[in-house]
Amino acid sequence: FQRDVLVLDQQVDKSATLPPDPSVKIIARIRPVSWRERDLPTVRKVSPTSIFVEDRVFNFDSVVDSTSTQEDIFQLVGVPVVKDSLAGYNTTVLSYGQTGSGKTYTMWGPPSAMVEGHSPSSNQGIVPRIFQMLFSEIQREQENSGEKQVNYQCRCSFLEIYNEQIGDLLDPTQRNLKIRDDAKNGFYVENLTEESVTSYDDVTQILIKGLSNRKVGATSINSKSSRSHVVFTCVVESWCKVTSSKCISSSKTSRISLVDLAGSDRNKLEDASIKEVRNVRKSLAQLGRLVNTLAESPQPGNPSDVPYRSSCLTHLLRESFGGNAKLSVLCTVSPHDRCKGETLSTLRFGQRAKSIQNEPQINEI
Ligand code: ADP
Repeated sequence: FQRDVLVLDQQVDKSATLPPDPSVKIIARIRPVSWRERDLPTVRKVSPTSIFVEDRVFNFDSVVDSTSTQEDIFQLVGVPVVKDSLAGYNTTVLSYGQTGSGKTYTMWGPPSAMVEGHSPSSNQGIVPRIFQMLFSEIQREQENSGEKQVNYQCRCSFLEIYNEQIGDLLDPTQRNLKIRDDAKNGFYVENLTEESVTSYDDVTQILIKGLSNRKVGATSINSKSSRSHVVFTCVVESWCKVTSSKCISSSKTSRISLVDLAGSDRNKLEDASIKEVRNVRKSLAQLGRLVNTLAESPQPGNPSDVPYRSSCLTHLLRESFGGNAKLSVLCTVSPHDRCKGETLSTLRFGQRAKSIQNEPQINEI
């Protein structure tokens, strides 16, 4: 009897030391030094959860540097997204940082890594890895479900916010879509293309098509610098029935939102004359305002005080910030001294976002 009690105690102790899964996770990623950069890197990881810039240390859920691989980032951010989504939670991954800091690399990987399809590519980003895992988990569950028959339906959409207009990346003729919010249909983007997908290959085709339609512009830092925010969404619906009784026992739905923001660069005055750059800055400023409001008052007395409707981006991210979703924010930064101002601004954004409290719930239907 005493041995049993001891075993039980140890089990309790072990689970008690597990950190709770936060509803908002902030991860800072320092990109490696590039061969073109001559100045010495000054931004560095000082522990698995802290990063040093100038004379300041910022603490996050995780800090990763050039010693971490794409697979490491996937384990940290992507694996929980797949598990949570299959459990019925909405999830969002959002990359935030200046142009050239590694947002695109972290989210998508180099384009060649995605075209390679199933062959494992060490450069693949979080997004393709999420869908590889999602479909292999679905297949595994369906093969091992016995009498309990589990059905899944996944639908993807891909949009861009460019010059404060929502465009459909799967149908570039649709350029000024409206966000609707009504009692019957809930919250949605009207006329946005939704494509059913049943495999990782289906998702890859959609990603390649959508990304090739994304607006980019030439800046002095990076000729592929994006002038738009993009949001890739996959709705995962599952329902399960016991074959002997034909009775539907449960059904769940979840939404995976993967958000790659345009560069957050603030100090390049020559770009300010370009309309699309001004619009990007304005919408990121509104996102900052939303984060500040939620950080200062995690449960505002009056939800209408939260400035969701101040821009397309904040409106679309209503569930992700302060709502029914698990959120991971990837703050990507350069290691270099000359980028210090932008790096501090990115990390301050992450620090404020860390105070937000989301309320994720399993979406049973
Ligand atoms: P952003 O999307 O923030 O403008 P990119 O993702 O295009 O930046 O990254 C800029 C350059 O740095 C690209 O050539 C990219 O391949 C490289 N890069 C960024 N992060 C990493 C990383 N962690 N490891 C290797 N190369 C990286």
